[in-house]
Amino acid sequence: MKNVAILGSTGSIGRSTLDVIKQLGDEFRVISLAARSQIDRLVDQARDFSPVRLAVANPESERDVRSLLGENGCDIFSGTEALVELAKDPDADIVVNALVGAVGLRATLAALEAGKIVALANKESIVMAGVLVMQAVAESEGWLVPIDSEHSAVLQCLRGEDPTQVKQLLLTASGGPFLRRPIDSFASITPEEALKHPNWEMGPKITIDSATLMNKGLEVIEAHYLFDLPPEKIKVVVHPQSIVHSMVEFVDGSIKAQLSQPDMRVPIQYALTYPDRFQADFVSFDLSQIGSLEFEEPDIEKFKCLKLACQSLDQGNGYPTALNAANEIAVEAFLEKRIRFDQIAKLNESVLTAFNSPDSFDLDAVLQVDDWARQWCREQIKSINK
Ligand code: MG
Repeated sequence: MKNVAILGSTGSIGRSTLDVIKQLGDEFRVISLAARSQIDRLVDQARDFSPVRLAVANPESERDVRSLLGENGCDIFSGTEALVELAKDPDADIVVNALVGAVGLRATLAALEAGKIVALANKESIVMAGVLVMQAVAESEGWLVPIDSEHSAVLQCLRGEDPTQVKQLLLTASGGPFLRRPIDSFASITPEEALKHPNWEMGPKITIDSATLMNKGLEVIEAHYLFDLPPEKIKVVVHPQSIVHSMVEFVDGSIKAQLSQPDMRVPIQYALTYPDRFQADFVSFDLSQIGSLEFEEPDIEKFKCLKLACQSLDQGNGYPTALNAANEIAVEAFLEKRIRFDQIAKLNESVLTAFNSPDSFDLDAVLQVDDWARQWCREQIKSINK
């Protein structure tokens, strides 16, 4: 039996993970759950799955959980340090990191250092500190399996292949809700419109990133580090149906693809059971019902965030870190209606222009760059709103 720690259990990925574990039966058991603010939901999950440990964001939430749950043998912790503790908990075999944003990095590193299998949905960990994360993977007795559907697809396509025979990765992108919307109306896009993704049910941050195509840019960076491929071998292809989750082209002209319904439970289950496959009854998949699959080039002038992410990867060192941090602040400001949709890309562009990366890049430097870019972006947003 494998013990699973789920960091970010009340979000979309966390809930789908619990759904998968329920259906996998006795071989997987929830050992701990961590959530930030959805206390009622966390308490329901704790009643349902009887974890040994819980973590929440702050002491007030900790008190609330305690009074709702009573004393029933469950240890409850709070604060960001609690995430790290759950990540390296000796009782955990698999750590599902479904945290949103930069807060996930230390948990990813701690879990790897403790030799866990890390099922990673928190792509920001790799984007902000790809070198450090992959170094931790190399030194770890555990391993890192992506939950991101595109990277899960690439991992599956690469099974049994010689990495030197890869010509390029083809990361598919749905194109988001504004694929056909003219760029001159981007300024009037509301958060409500941007939160309606055509194919995937996801949390608000990643849904906005999917609407700007920043998500795909972050995924290019993620793929670069995960699969150790140069940026020029990673190509983005728009595929509005989100059925082909990504492809790998080999030197002989063959392309392998992984297809499934757009349901995150598929890559989540693969990450949990990797390298095995288990029976899953939650998805029926009939290609004849889907009919046609389309592919096209992305418009990187319209979706500038994709271009900026690729640019940051070329610039190297701390540039992806700075971009990721500024983007988090910009997306938050857009969701709170403090900036317009088109200003997300403008803020992201300006952070790359203003930033000077340090050459050495340890964890302290990563956190400093992350902090600097957040501050810088907040200042820019203040001056926009004056
Ligand atoms: Mg993805």
